[in-house]
Amino acid sequence: MPSQTQYAVIGLGRFGSSVAKQLMKHGYQVLGIDESEEIVDDLSEALTHTVAADATDEDVLRALGIRNFDVVVVAIGSDIQASILIAILCKDLGVKKVVAKAVTELHGRVLEKVGVDRIIYPERDMGIRVANQLATPNLLDYIELSDKYTIAELSVPSKLDGVTLKDLDPRARYGCSIVAINKTDGVIIAPTAADTLQERDVMVVIGTNEQIERFEHAVED
Ligand code: ATP
Repeated sequence: MPSQTQYAVIGLGRFGSSVAKQLMKHGYQVLGIDESEEIVDDLSEALTHTVAADATDEDVLRALGIRNFDVVVVAIGSDIQASILIAILCKDLGVKKVVAKAVTELHGRVLEKVGVDRIIYPERDMGIRVANQLATPNLLDYIELSDKYTIAELSVPSKLDGVTLKDLDPRARYGCSIVAINKTDGVIIAPTAADTLQERDVMVVIGTNEQIERFEHAVED
């Protein structure tokens, strides 16, 4: 259980509380901080520790020993000033990894300037993901490895039912590779030419965005 990493989440609105609860599910210790007593009371059972306090107060962050946390998530959106102040304080107090939510590009740019290590744009990014999934019906999920490369999970269309990887030959035809096939009875990692696709399988494909798009459109029903 990876319980040694200590997380603090500042701002327990919809985004912050969801991050905090999910980290708890992964077995981590999570301190949740929110200025609202009511929100803190609601989450006191769900998180390891909860504190009702204004996190823009440097003394509060010092007293909580914020510098001892491995990762601090600043999850405040509507009060941009508070979000930036808290991010600066966390970095100044020596937190190694500060992750902050941004509501606009400008907010994100300021967070970047003050040294925030990772900036998340939940609404923008979820909008992009939903649009990509709607535009590519077989796309179940994807990870962008860089601007150019993606790993995509694609459901196998009926057209490919019973087709071997040798017949499909995605590497030669489209430039992308199938690195795993998720079948109902288990996952085949690094499948060989003799492995066969079935309609309910999920194939994990790696390649450039263009290669994956070309492959997806060529095989879709
Ligand atoms: P959501 O994640 O729900 O979309 P949001 O982006 O609208 O949230 P806010 O509602 O502004 O963000 O803030 C999230 C939480 O942060 C709220 O519960 C609020 O009480 C808390 N918060 C705001 N300012 C501070 C502060 N200075 N110190 C501690 N908590 C704060």
